[in-house]
Amino acid sequence: MCSGCGACMNACPRKAISMQEEQDGFLYPFFDSEKCVDCNACVNVCPAQKELQGNVPNDVFLAWCNNEKLREKSSSGGIFAQIAAKILEKGGIVFGAAYNEKMRVAHKYIESVEELPLLQSSKYVQSEIGNAYKEAQEFLKKGRLVYFVGTPCQIAGLNSFLKKNYDNLLTSDLICHGAPSNALLNKQIDDIQQKYKNRIIDFNFRSKARFGQGYDIEVSFENGGKKFFNAELVPYFYGFWRNISLRESCYHCHYSSERRVSDITLGDYWLAKKIHRVKTSKGTSLILVNTLKGKKILDECKSSVALIPDNLDRVKKIQAHLSRPVKVNSLHASFVKDFGGKDWDYLCQRYFRAPLRYRCKMHLRNILKTLTLYKLWK
Ligand SMILES: Cc1cc2nc3c(=O)[nH]c(=O)nc-3n(C[C@H](O)[C@H](O)[C@H](O)COP(=O)(O)OP(=O)(O)OC[C@H]3O[C@@H](n4cnc5c(N)ncnc54)[C@H](O)[C@@H]3O)c2cc1C
Repeated sequence: MCSGCGACMNACPRKAISMQEEQDGFLYPFFDSEKCVDCNACVNVCPAQKELQGNVPNDVFLAWCNNEKLREKSSSGGIFAQIAAKILEKGGIVFGAAYNEKMRVAHKYIESVEELPLLQSSKYVQSEIGNAYKEAQEFLKKGRLVYFVGTPCQIAGLNSFLKKNYDNLLTSDLICHGAPSNALLNKQIDDIQQKYKNRIIDFNFRSKARFGQGYDIEVSFENGGKKFFNAELVPYFYGFWRNISLRESCYHCHYSSERRVSDITLGDYWLAKKIHRVKTSKGTSLILVNTLKGKKILDECKSSVALIPDNLDRVKKIQAHLSRPVKVNSLHASFVKDFGGKDWDYLCQRYFRAPLRYRCKMHLRNILKTLTLYKLWK
């Protein structure tokens, strides 16, 4: 059940715990028994040892931010970016996930709107939390306003680590499908780098540049070049999408529930056009307002966001992960065994190769989309 949230490492007063990569490519806590004094601080903060503590949302909205620039760079409706911009305007700090210099996704904080693009857009990989909880706590104790965003397990980890409620803390969790490892993403990145003989500096899973909201991967190279890939034909994404390469705990995730651990939950709203007759191509979000703090910040952003009321029962029907975790793919167990020992080509061939029919369909869809005949075809 260890989700790798890192609460134990952040809580250890002796720095006896480090997060290290296991054979499955994910980070797990490792103990230095010489430093450990059996104080149990780690066990006491572990959210996997606790009952789920969360709130059923009071309000549910289809939403998007009116600032086109912020929305363009975001995965869906850009609600994260709009709230973050408000917090930064008030002199606050925003924590989220960004690529580091090794193209691993890790949590970091920003203090200016200019840095916002680093955190925007979903990176479908488990972000490394590092010392982010401790850093957030330091800012909170100094009275700074902090907005912390992460997967539900990371927000549960933060809450558990902090042990108390801070009025100056605002949190958002994501409706979460589950996440593969940075180790796997790095194999994918290395493969593309070798093919194009150039270093990758950004890997955007949710580029809207070609087709609007969807899953379209835009890779940026050091030499200024860009390359687009149909996400579902990229091996890494195929494994993520087909539930082959997710962390073990994702398949048993107890945060896949209507009870939410944050102030505002963020997700995609895919059926906005069908249900609310709203155009989706620029991106639309589903937001769940779980606390009064969440409601307050949304009120403050009201002039910058469009909000259409919805209801929980309906969105639960279209958002499976508000009720249950992702189903495990039958290939998952053998993938985990093979991950450490087999090379990238073998993993792609055995686990991440879409059937021929599917590949043809995807290529055809891309061609039609490009020719803007997609609507007709659909
Ligand atoms: C691993 C993962 C799985 C997801 N699964 C679903 C799903 O099944 N259904 C659904 O509706 N939505 C899912 N989402 C959320 C969705 O992709 C959008 O992030 C969400 O709709 C908010 O969009 P936005 O435009 O408001 O903000 P965005 O611009 O997308 O920003 C979202 C925030 O998430 C943070 N973030 C990005 N990557 C990570 C990461 N790897 N770990 C922790 N935090 C991160 C960013 O720093 C930012 O603060 C998932 C996100 C992730 C990271």
